[in-house]
Amino acid sequence: MKVIRSIRSMADFSRNAHIKGKTIGFVPTMGALHEGHLSLIRQARKENDVVVVSVFVNPVQFGPKEDYKHYPRNLKRDTELSRKSGADIVFYPDAGDMYFFNHKTYIEVCGLSGYLCGKFRPGHFKGVATVVAKLFNIINPDTSYFGQKDAQQAIVIKKMVEDLNIPVRIKVMPTVREKDGLAMSSRNKYLDKKERADAAVLYQALRMARDLISHGVTDSLSIIRKMRQLISSKKSARIQYISIVNPVDLSGVNTIKERVLIALSVYIGKTRLIDNIVVSP
Ligand code: AMP
Repeated sequence: MKVIRSIRSMADFSRNAHIKGKTIGFVPTMGALHEGHLSLIRQARKENDVVVVSVFVNPVQFGPKEDYKHYPRNLKRDTELSRKSGADIVFYPDAGDMYFFNHKTYIEVCGLSGYLCGKFRPGHFKGVATVVAKLFNIINPDTSYFGQKDAQQAIVIKKMVEDLNIPVRIKVMPTVREKDGLAMSSRNKYLDKKERADAAVLYQALRMARDLISHGVTDSLSIIRKMRQLISSKKSARIQYISIVNPVDLSGVNTIKERVLIALSVYIGKTRLIDNIVVSP
């Protein structure tokens, strides 16, 4: 397995792989890899001749008060885990090379970026769409793998690919969870012991919502109210949003008649966690 740092070398590698008729599977990450990321790499390994994992903490998707500087970084560990999971290349570009001092072009997936997390993280999805488009242009993958954990991100990327005719297939893989149901996340590292225990309430609330829907409850507001009560029973929890929306266009759903996305963002202590499930009535 090789670590490639230069954009030019990465593009050359991909071009040569395509000339040889090889398919490229691509997994974009910000590093601090865990089983969630590794499940994407393993899936890419199953379905492609060449697997590229990018490790890039994208400055453009962080707000000024967010954790860009403190985001966990450990290239050696990430490289080893990527290798063990079947990656051929770890692409580890420099932020200064990715965003030259006179970078002026950004991609905005209008509408979709304004819902859910987008309301609270202005500019976040613009940063995500821009970096993913750049990575697609550099790596030119046949298929790229994303996690359902970041449901809105996957929806935004799918729309960008469709709207801009980017020739890549997007695959969304299920959320990988800890034993108590907490969705794996690089940010779980920030939680202390008590907070880590409290954080399990996020998935408990999502499961409760699923149970209510399966028992015939269709009123979103009453479900959200019950979820709020459960989550608020933990002292460390501060709810940012809980939403029940259409899983394609993210528009709000008052009465649940079809498949819905139930998504939430909750601060546990100072750590912002997100999770979601898709439920059919
Ligand atoms: P990140 O490094 O947080 O930008 O995540 C890189 C990719 O891994 C994204 O497509 C995420 O949705 C995905 N991912 C993160 N956590 C999980 C998880 N627990 N299960 C599945 N995929 C995940």
